[in-house]
Amino acid sequence: MRILVQKFGGTSVDGLPCMLKVKEKVLGGLGQGYKVIVVLSAMHGVTNTLLDMASSWTPHPDDAEMDVLLATGEQQSVALFAMLLKEAGIKARSCLGYQLPIRTDPTYGSARILDIDRTRIVDLLQRYDVLVVAGFQGCDCTQRITTLGRGGSDTSAVALAAAVGAQCCEIYTDVHGVYTTDPNICSKARKLNRIDYEEMLEMASMGAKVLQIRSVEFAKKYNVPIHVRSTFSNELGTIVTQEENSMEAALVSGIAYDKDQARITLVGVQDEPGVSARIFEPIAAANIVVDMIVQNPSKEGRTDLTFTVPRGSVRDTLVILERLKEDIGALEIFHDDNVCKISVIGVGMRTHAGIASIAFATLKKENINILMISTSEIKISCLVKEKYTELAIRSLHEAFGLDKEPSTVCQEEPLV
Ligand code: ADP
Ligand code: ASP
Ligand code: MG
Repeated sequence: MRILVQKFGGTSVDGLPCMLKVKEKVLGGLGQGYKVIVVLSAMHGVTNTLLDMASSWTPHPDDAEMDVLLATGEQQSVALFAMLLKEAGIKARSCLGYQLPIRTDPTYGSARILDIDRTRIVDLLQRYDVLVVAGFQGCDCTQRITTLGRGGSDTSAVALAAAVGAQCCEIYTDVHGVYTTDPNICSKARKLNRIDYEEMLEMASMGAKVLQIRSVEFAKKYNVPIHVRSTFSNELGTIVTQEENSMEAALVSGIAYDKDQARITLVGVQDEPGVSARIFEPIAAANIVVDMIVQNPSKEGRTDLTFTVPRGSVRDTLVILERLKEDIGALEIFHDDNVCKISVIGVGMRTHAGIASIAFATLKKENINILMISTSEIKISCLVKEKYTELAIRSLHEAFGLDKEPSTVCQEEPLV
């Protein structure tokens, strides 16, 4: 049995005209002799509306019930789409996460997929030509509904493709593929024909929401080729796969940004062993993910400590820090929500020096102050004021020659 997985995001299922485009893609898959697993997201804006509804009812919505609520967005999409297929005489049915089942851990709101019942799916595919599966959802061992975190339908699709050994996992969205940076921010962004799993993972982790991070982790682990492409055209998109010469052999392959960042500064903390542990242990225990950390020793045995957390975690972090303030001797606590992390990504950085200095010089030329810096062997991230996001992306994109085809970019010499 040849199986194709096709996933369609929120803007691709936003009303009947869009769903008819989705139907064309599914018919295309059937026409090529595949059994098709279609994974759908909730219609555009529906998940946000459900989140807003819950928080207007109660300031701290119950996590498990929140997942029951959020999963209804995808339930609407699969029911409506399955109706369209059946009306056209196609042997199809809708499937919710718990019906397959897609088994996850019980971390409501960001559950991890543990197991998918392959036999059951293959059995269903003997009887149906198309399974219309609700993305983003699964169930835990107590049969409670779970959701996989924002953008989680990508992960549902790749995990299903891995479980059934699908030929390919097509991710249909509102852009033509993976670009050198967000094409909605930078008009000169260039579509990539191929991208290596590792670089895609870094792009996704640094904020390029075109694929959810966990979907790329799954694809890499189980070697599932992903084809990211547009629902609204027949153009080929971007193949995400294992490459020898990664991503068109570029030094820098892309620029990502993440606005979901907030900076917290503790002024004049005691500079002695164990203070960082006293600060970060309770933050970690509250499941708050700390990203960048900078410590600047100041005078008289004191140090300033600055770190970033997701914006939604600022309030909880401040509550923890206020409790600790006296114990760690902090003089003041500041926070700033209007920041953005810009990341320059490329596996070529491993073997080439000077990329960081080009990035810093480019931001300086635009008079953009760098608030924090963090690096790994294949990325450099700079935190800047949020108002400079677009300017920073465009100038870095140009400085690294990302708007030009790779053959015209000097590969061996430093760029400046
Ligand atoms: P869907 O609803 O189909 O899952 P998303 O909104 O989650 O779509 O992801 C697609 C969006 O990702 C695009 O509209 C684009 O703005 C954004 N994006 C960010 N970085 C990139 C990138 N490097 N390449 C392509 N799209 C990107
Ligand atoms: N509907 C969910 C979201 O908006 C999952 C998804 O679209 O992938 O995040
Ligand atoms: Mg998405």
